[in-house]
Amino acid sequence: MAEVPAVRIERLSKSFDGVEVLRDIDLTVNKGEVVSVLGSSGSGKSTLLRCINWLEQPDRGSIHIAGERIGASASGQAMKARELAAIRARTGMVFQSFNLWPHLTVLQNVMEAPVQVKKTPKAQAREAAQALLEKVGMEHKADAYPFTLSGGQKQRVAIARALAMSPEVMLFDEPTSALDPERVGEVLAVMKNLSAEGYTMIVVTHEMEFARAVSDQVVFLEKGILIEKAPPEKFFTQPETDRVRKFLELSR
Ligand code: ADP
Ligand code: MG
Repeated sequence: MAEVPAVRIERLSKSFDGVEVLRDIDLTVNKGEVVSVLGSSGSGKSTLLRCINWLEQPDRGSIHIAGERIGASASGQAMKARELAAIRARTGMVFQSFNLWPHLTVLQNVMEAPVQVKKTPKAQAREAAQALLEKVGMEHKADAYPFTLSGGQKQRVAIARALAMSPEVMLFDEPTSALDPERVGEVLAVMKNLSAEGYTMIVVTHEMEFARAVSDQVVFLEKGILIEKAPPEKFFTQPETDRVRKFLELSR
C-alpha cells in the first residue's frame, strides 16, 4: 500500500473580494519530498501556503495533512480554536520577515510554542531547543536577543522555532528574499540539510539553483492556476509552456 502523502491538496480555490487568486489547485507532497513553488509576484504563492496552515480559509477544495482533512470537521462546522491550533502545530511556517519575538532570547523563541501550546515541560523544551539551535548552527547565540542578529541568523532561528513543534510539513515563504546576498547561502544550506534529513518541505522561492538542486518537484503558479508541475530536471530544461520558458529566461 502506498504511504499516505504528507500533504494532499485537491481542487483548492480561494477568492479575495470576488477575485479568484487560487483556482482548482491539486498538489500532492509525499513524505520527505521538497516541492518548490515558483511564480511571479501576485500569482498566489503565499496564499497557497497560508491556506495549508489555515491562516486563510479556502473557499473550495480540501487539504489533508498526513491523511487527515484539515479545516472542515466531519459535520462541516467551523473550526474551534483548539482544532485550529492543532492544525497550525502540524505545519511549521517560515516567513520572509522572520517574525521572531523581540522580547525573548533566541533560546526562548524556540522554546515558547512547545511550552505554551504543547505544554512540554520546560527542561525538556530547553534541551530540544538547544539541539535544534545546533542543527541550524545558532547554539552560540542561545542567550542573544533577535535585534543583535543578522538577517541570516534570525532566519535560522526562525527555522529552529518552526521545527520545535515537530511539524509534519515545513512551509517556507520566500525565506531568503529579505536577506543581504551574502546571507542567503547560510539559510539555503540549513534548508538543504533539512531536506537531506528527510523533512517534508514546501518552499516558495526565487532561488532557482536551490529549486533545481534540492526539489523533488517544481510547480509554477500563474494567476492562481498551477500551470506546470515537474521534476526539476524536466522543469528547468524542457518546460511545457511558453510562460515558464519566459520566466526561466528572465530569471537567468
Ligand atoms: P504571491 O505570494 O505569489 O506574490 P499572494 O498569494 O500574496 O501572491 O497574492 C495573490 C493575490 O491575492 C494578489 O493579487 C494579492 O493582492 C491578493 N491578496 C492576497 N492576500 C489578500 C488579502 N488578505 N486580501 C485581499 N487580497 C489579497
Ligand atoms: Mg508571496
